[in-house]
Amino acid sequence: MHEYSLVQSLVERVEAEARKRGALSVHKLTVRIGELSGVDPELFQTAYDTFREGTLCARAPLLLERVAATWSCPRCGARIPRGEPLHCGACDVPARLDEGGDALMLNGIEMEVP
Ligand SMILES: [Zn+2]
Repeated sequence: MHEYSLVQSLVERVEAEARKRGALSVHKLTVRIGELSGVDPELFQTAYDTFREGTLCARAPLLLERVAATWSCPRCGARIPRGEPLHCGACDVPARLDEGGDALMLNGIEMEVP
Protein backbone atom coordinates (compact mmCIF):
# COMPACT_ATOMS: atom_id res chain seq x y z
CA MET A 1 0.00 0.00 0.00
CA HIS A 2 1.08 3.52 -0.92
CA GLU A 3 0.66 4.82 2.64
CA TYR A 4 3.02 2.18 4.06
CA SER A 5 5.93 3.24 1.87
CA LEU A 6 5.24 6.88 2.77
CA VAL A 7 5.24 6.03 6.48
CA GLN A 8 8.41 4.01 6.07
CA SER A 9 10.29 6.89 4.51
CA LEU A 10 8.84 9.29 7.09
CA VAL A 11 10.00 7.17 10.02
CA GLU A 12 13.43 6.68 8.43
CA ARG A 13 13.76 10.41 7.98
CA VAL A 14 12.71 11.10 11.57
CA GLU A 15 15.13 8.48 12.92
CA ALA A 16 17.98 9.95 10.87
CA GLU A 17 17.12 13.39 12.24
CA ALA A 18 16.90 12.06 15.81
CA ARG A 19 20.26 10.26 15.57
CA LYS A 20 21.91 13.33 14.15
CA ARG A 21 20.87 15.21 17.31
CA GLY A 22 21.63 12.33 19.65
CA ALA A 23 17.99 12.00 20.70
CA LEU A 24 16.94 9.06 22.87
CA SER A 25 13.42 8.91 21.61
CA VAL A 26 10.84 10.84 19.67
CA HIS A 27 7.88 12.30 21.57
CA LYS A 28 5.59 13.55 18.87
CA LEU A 29 5.36 13.95 15.12
CA THR A 30 3.30 16.42 13.19
CA VAL A 31 2.56 15.78 9.54
CA ARG A 32 0.48 17.91 7.21
CA ILE A 33 -1.57 16.09 4.61
CA GLY A 34 -2.86 18.09 1.69
CA GLU A 35 -6.38 17.37 0.49
CA LEU A 36 -5.06 16.57 -3.00
CA SER A 37 -1.94 14.68 -1.89
CA GLY A 38 -3.58 11.34 -2.61
CA VAL A 39 -2.84 10.20 0.94
CA ASP A 40 -5.64 8.78 3.04
CA PRO A 41 -5.19 10.14 6.60
CA GLU A 42 -6.81 7.09 8.26
CA LEU A 43 -4.66 4.66 6.29
CA PHE A 44 -1.61 6.76 7.00
CA GLN A 45 -2.35 6.69 10.74
CA THR A 46 -2.91 2.92 10.69
CA ALA A 47 0.27 2.37 8.71
CA TYR A 48 2.19 4.52 11.18
CA ASP A 49 0.82 2.65 14.21
CA THR A 50 1.98 -0.62 12.65
CA PHE A 51 5.31 0.60 11.45
CA ARG A 52 6.51 2.56 14.50
CA GLU A 53 6.94 -0.60 16.63
CA GLY A 54 10.61 -1.05 17.40
CA THR A 55 11.65 2.31 15.97
CA LEU A 56 12.62 5.52 17.76
CA CYS A 57 9.04 6.61 17.10
CA ALA A 58 7.52 3.70 19.03
CA ARG A 59 6.05 6.00 21.71
CA ALA A 60 5.48 9.05 19.56
CA PRO A 61 1.89 9.89 18.69
CA LEU A 62 1.33 11.11 15.18
CA LEU A 63 -0.63 14.31 14.80
CA LEU A 64 -2.11 14.75 11.36
CA GLU A 65 -3.06 18.18 10.14
CA ARG A 66 -5.28 18.20 7.11
CA VAL A 67 -4.64 21.00 4.67
CA ALA A 68 -7.55 21.96 2.45
CA ALA A 69 -6.79 22.54 -1.20
CA THR A 70 -7.24 26.21 -2.05
CA TRP A 71 -6.66 27.94 -5.34
CA SER A 72 -5.67 31.47 -6.17
CA CYS A 73 -4.76 33.61 -9.13
CA PRO A 74 -1.01 33.66 -9.82
CA ARG A 75 -1.32 37.20 -11.19
CA CYS A 76 -3.57 39.18 -8.82
CA GLY A 77 -3.57 36.75 -5.88
CA ALA A 78 -7.37 36.56 -5.67
CA ARG A 79 -8.70 33.50 -3.87
CA ILE A 80 -10.89 31.30 -6.06
CA PRO A 81 -13.92 30.27 -3.97
CA ARG A 82 -14.55 26.56 -3.57
CA GLY A 83 -16.63 25.11 -6.36
CA GLU A 84 -15.91 27.95 -8.77
CA PRO A 85 -14.08 27.37 -12.09
CA LEU A 86 -10.30 27.26 -11.50
CA HIS A 87 -9.73 30.41 -13.46
CA CYS A 88 -9.38 34.09 -12.56
CA GLY A 89 -12.06 36.01 -14.46
CA ALA A 90 -10.37 39.37 -13.87
CA CYS A 91 -6.97 38.34 -15.27
CA ASP A 92 -8.14 35.58 -17.61
CA VAL A 93 -5.48 33.14 -16.38
CA PRO A 94 -5.75 29.66 -14.86
CA ALA A 95 -5.75 29.48 -11.08
CA ARG A 96 -2.86 27.93 -9.22
CA LEU A 97 -3.09 25.44 -6.36
CA ASP A 98 -1.86 27.06 -3.14
CA GLU A 99 1.12 25.57 -1.36
CA GLY A 100 0.49 22.50 0.73
CA GLY A 101 -2.76 21.48 -0.93
CA ASP A 102 -1.18 18.52 -2.70
CA ALA A 103 1.73 17.85 -0.35
CA LEU A 104 2.64 15.51 2.44
CA MET A 105 4.90 17.42 4.78
CA LEU A 106 6.73 16.59 7.96
CA ASN A 107 5.89 19.66 9.99
CA GLY A 108 7.44 19.00 13.38
CA ILE A 109 9.38 16.52 15.47
CA GLU A 110 9.52 16.64 19.25
CA MET A 111 12.35 14.54 20.61
CA GLU A 112 14.16 13.87 23.84
CA VAL A 113 17.76 15.01 23.68
CA PRO A 114 19.91 14.18 26.70
ZN1 LIG B 1 -6.37 37.39 -11.17
